[in-house]
Amino acid sequence: MSLPALTIHEAARLLAAGEISATELTEAVLDRIFSVDNAIKAYLTLTPELALEGARAADMSLGEARRNGTTADLPPLTGIPFAIKDVITVEGVPLTCGSRILEGYLPPYGATVVDRLGAAGAVILGKTNTDEFAMGSSTENSAYFTTRNPWDLTRVPGGSSGGSAAAVAADLCLAALGSDTGGSVRQPASLCGVVGLKPTYGRVSRYGLVAYASSFDQIGPLAKDVTDAALMLSAMAGHDPSDSTSLRDPVPDYRGGLQRSGAASRPLAGVRVGVPGEYFIPGMQAEVEAAVRKAVGVLEELGAEVHPISLPHTDLALPVYYLLASAEASANLARFDGIRYGLSERGGSLWETYLETRSKGFGPEVKRRIMLGAYALSAGYYDAYYLKAQQVRTLIKADFDAALAEVDVIACPTSPVTAFPIGERANDPLSMYLADIFTLSLNLAGLPGMSLPCGFDGKSLPIGLQLIAGPLQEERLLRVAHTYEQATEWHLRRPVVGTIED
Ligand code: GLN
Repeated sequence: MSLPALTIHEAARLLAAGEISATELTEAVLDRIFSVDNAIKAYLTLTPELALEGARAADMSLGEARRNGTTADLPPLTGIPFAIKDVITVEGVPLTCGSRILEGYLPPYGATVVDRLGAAGAVILGKTNTDEFAMGSSTENSAYFTTRNPWDLTRVPGGSSGGSAAAVAADLCLAALGSDTGGSVRQPASLCGVVGLKPTYGRVSRYGLVAYASSFDQIGPLAKDVTDAALMLSAMAGHDPSDSTSLRDPVPDYRGGLQRSGAASRPLAGVRVGVPGEYFIPGMQAEVEAAVRKAVGVLEELGAEVHPISLPHTDLALPVYYLLASAEASANLARFDGIRYGLSERGGSLWETYLETRSKGFGPEVKRRIMLGAYALSAGYYDAYYLKAQQVRTLIKADFDAALAEVDVIACPTSPVTAFPIGERANDPLSMYLADIFTLSLNLAGLPGMSLPCGFDGKSLPIGLQLIAGPLQEERLLRVAHTYEQATEWHLRRPVVGTIED
């Protein structure tokens, strides 16, 4: 098997045994990026020197541990090459958020998650493409370029973490970080045929993640399989004094938890799986519905009890999400004023500098959200829109609380459709917003969710199964996902990356 195609856990075994070196692994992934990424366009910035420096340090630790017979005590990600979505800071490495307004900005500090991956031995390859400020579902809102889906280069990889998802799917990294405000880890994972996990709100520190909608945002792993997602979550999660919304609850050994699913013939016996009627809607792709229902059947064969459930306020999630996320974004993005970060278009007065910089620096989708959000928050409209939306947010959360009192896990599609053609929705914001119809409710409720491959459509495009659990139930979520993965082979299929004429 080629080195870039390895999972984290396979590579870690080979590294510990001395069968490969971290430098060889990193060089192999960099070579693949240099030969294939001109077709995929997953990366905005590459950091080969940083990567090779990290790999050399990993090789020193690996060598020493092998000599002392202590490889089992090495940090779990030693020598593993990662990609980071470009809304997360890496000290001294350009940060763009997919926007012109941050051109030239070098962050003076790294995000807590990046420090934690570093402490676990990870190697950083570079920064991946994203919709501008993580607003979008296709990477077409990036001010730089659109990333292509490795399964079909004429289609989108999903978004906003489309660069990270495409990089994982095309073996341009072993795993990657994304951020999920309304679906941006799970939806691109689904469209690219990889595993994506959005943790419980507060499980992972947001320090160093550029805020889009602070009460929704979470950083999550994009990985080649469930075991890798579990390994990454253990390395990333936990309280951070720099993020007061990060939770103090102890971090389980998520990978160790997977092994406990055991070899029983009915490993999911006793697990209650709820299937929400509201997540199978007219207009969704029939092949997606069929694949997800079949996946639920597999869970049942593995011993799970399947129950139909109802989440009655589901149809309100989309308008509530776009109203609240835009309101929070309008406040968060006020800091990009031409004075403090990146682009600065000097005008005759301070006010003109603000106007010029923001007019030139932000793209159309970001401006649309700022206007919508500022409107919803303004005196006279606040009660009718913002306050009302917050009230409905509580009802949506209550739906999940009631359902999750009856079942352990909810199973449904991640996206109503497989990867759509580049350009198909780019000029129609509403149809783009619909791409996240099955993912954004979880962010309103703060719940953990994940997407994993569960089939392919007639065009050989991947389909994702979404699993949802109660707050801080990531261990259960990962165990059910892993049991499903062990029983199926969808995660083993990889795209053959072709070339495209630009
Ligand atoms: N597509 C949704 C939006 O544009 C979700 C984005 C995200 O999760 N960052 O807001």
